[in-house]
Amino acid sequence: MTKCTLRKHALLTIFPALTCISFSPIVQDSVDLQPYSLRIEDDEPDGADTTLYIALDTCVLYPAYAIYGSSWSHDEVNPYKASPESMSGAVAISLAGYTHPNQNVITSRFGARRWKFHYGIDLRLSVGDSVRCAFNGRVRIARRGKAYGNYVVVRHYNGLETTYAHLSKILVKVNDEVKSGDLVGWGGNTGRSTGPHLHYEMRYLGQALDPMTLVDFATGKPCADSFLLTAACFAYVRELEQMRYWVVRSGDSLWTISQKTGVSIDYLCKANHIPRNRALRLGQRIRYH
Ligand SMILES: [Zn+2]
Repeated sequence: MTKCTLRKHALLTIFPALTCISFSPIVQDSVDLQPYSLRIEDDEPDGADTTLYIALDTCVLYPAYAIYGSSWSHDEVNPYKASPESMSGAVAISLAGYTHPNQNVITSRFGARRWKFHYGIDLRLSVGDSVRCAFNGRVRIARRGKAYGNYVVVRHYNGLETTYAHLSKILVKVNDEVKSGDLVGWGGNTGRSTGPHLHYEMRYLGQALDPMTLVDFATGKPCADSFLLTAACFAYVRELEQMRYWVVRSGDSLWTISQKTGVSIDYLCKANHIPRNRALRLGQRIRYH
C-alpha cells in the first residue's frame, strides 16, 4: 500500500488542541499530503505502537486531512477555529507543481489599507481571461458572495487553500477534483470591485498569507521548492487585533479626536495617511493605535 508518512511532531504542531503533549520547536517535515494513506510515525522512546493510519478515501475526500480533519464548509472562507499565529513550531509547505493563476501585473498588494486589511493580491485582467488553479486539490467553495462576487476556494494537498474572486463565470463545482493549471473560472468584475481584476488569496488554516512570500509574481514561479511556515507569517493578525479606531461623529476634528484618545495629531495623520487640514466625514474610521 502506498503510504505518506508524517512525523508525530508535525501532527502536534498542526493540531493545536493537542498542546498537552510536548513537541520540538522546529519541524522540517513536509506536509505535502498527496491522496495516499497517511501513516503517522511514532517517535516516542517507549516503543509503544501508536501508529495511526488514515484511509486513502479520507485523504482524497478531504485534502490535507491531517491539518483540517473533515471540516469542509461550502460557504465560509475561514470556518476554522484555528490560530496559526500562535503555532510554536514550523511546517514546510511543498510548492511543487505550482501554476500561477494569471500572469498579469499586480494592482494591489497584500497588507493594511487605510481602514481595512487586504487579505490577497489583485492582478489586473480583462473580463473573460483565464484563471487557473494553483495546485492539485478539491473545490471547497464555488458561489457568489457580496464582497468576493463569484469566487472559488480550493483546498490543496499541501495544506494551503487558494481563493479566486470577482470572476465573471465559475467553471467548477463544489467537490470537483482539480489539477494545478485547470481553469476555475473567467476573470471578471463581480462583487465589491471597481474594475476587472483577480483577487487572489493563499491561506493556511483559514488565515491569509502574503502570496508574495511564496511566489515570485514577476515570473509566476514559486520562490523555492517549499515554504517554511511559522507564526511569524501571521504576525499581522496580532497587529490587527491591537489596532484601535475612532468613528467620526458630529463635531469631531483631528484636534478633538487627539484630545479624546490621547494621541497626537501628527500620529493620527501618519497612521491614516491624511494631511492635517483634511475634513473628516461622519462615520469615517480614524486609526489611533
Ligand atoms: Zn483584492
